[in-house]
Amino acid sequence: MNAPAKLTILGSGNSAGVPALFNHWGACDSNEPKNRRRRACAVFQVEEKILVVDTGPDFRDQFNQAGWTRIDAVLYTHYHGDHVHGIDELRYVARTGGRLDVYGNASTLDNLQTRFSYLFAGSPDGLYQSILKPHMIMDNQYGKPMTIGGIPCTPFEQDHGTCVSTGLRVGDVAYSVDLVNLDAAGIAALRGVKTWVVDGGAYHHENPLVHAGLPRLYDLNEKIGAETVVIVNLSAKMDYQTLRRELRPGFEPGYDGMEIPVTI
Ligand SMILES: [Zn+2]
Repeated sequence: MNAPAKLTILGSGNSAGVPALFNHWGACDSNEPKNRRRRACAVFQVEEKILVVDTGPDFRDQFNQAGWTRIDAVLYTHYHGDHVHGIDELRYVARTGGRLDVYGNASTLDNLQTRFSYLFAGSPDGLYQSILKPHMIMDNQYGKPMTIGGIPCTPFEQDHGTCVSTGLRVGDVAYSVDLVNLDAAGIAALRGVKTWVVDGGAYHHENPLVHAGLPRLYDLNEKIGAETVVIVNLSAKMDYQTLRRELRPGFEPGYDGMEIPVTI
């Protein structure tokens, strides 16, 4: 299949974004545009199909700025607020026709259907209609090809410390936000990938609990062998130009609006 395809990183920041509230830039140079980072959201596009991965608090602005006018499905990697809290914006998708297909693992969908029951089931007073249709990714589907929103892909399991998050591979590109480590099955799902976009938010931390640091990613990619590793989940401690200088060859910092070609 040689369909025109790409991954667009709409949000390369950590949960606080950069600058964080009160214009906290931390170690980041405020004059470097690539240091301005919104919360997690990415889009896989294959021909006209649009698969959104996470809808963080900045989702509406991010998506509008990119200019797409359709969404075929949304995958939620996990239930943390910085990946979810733009979910109300999806009400507008339903106005353009039917319920929107939403994918996630059991813990993610259970959590979302509790917190945002009005979007899945509607509200008793009739104010909210049911606009989201849940599709659970079962444990035995991890590492196996499937189709989400008309896009062929392979989900894989990630250890995020306090929960299991879902990574997604489409062709030769994989997107791995919010993880601290991968097991052998996750590594196997990623093997042969050309570009790996991955959470490096713990930066220099040697033994992080929730997000991976650079030492962990260097070790993992010894086994995965991605040509290019793009670091996301970037915090205010992680200045773009400093990262470019200090990262090992083949590793680079991501930024909002970064586009990565996908070969399927
Ligand atoms: Zn998280």
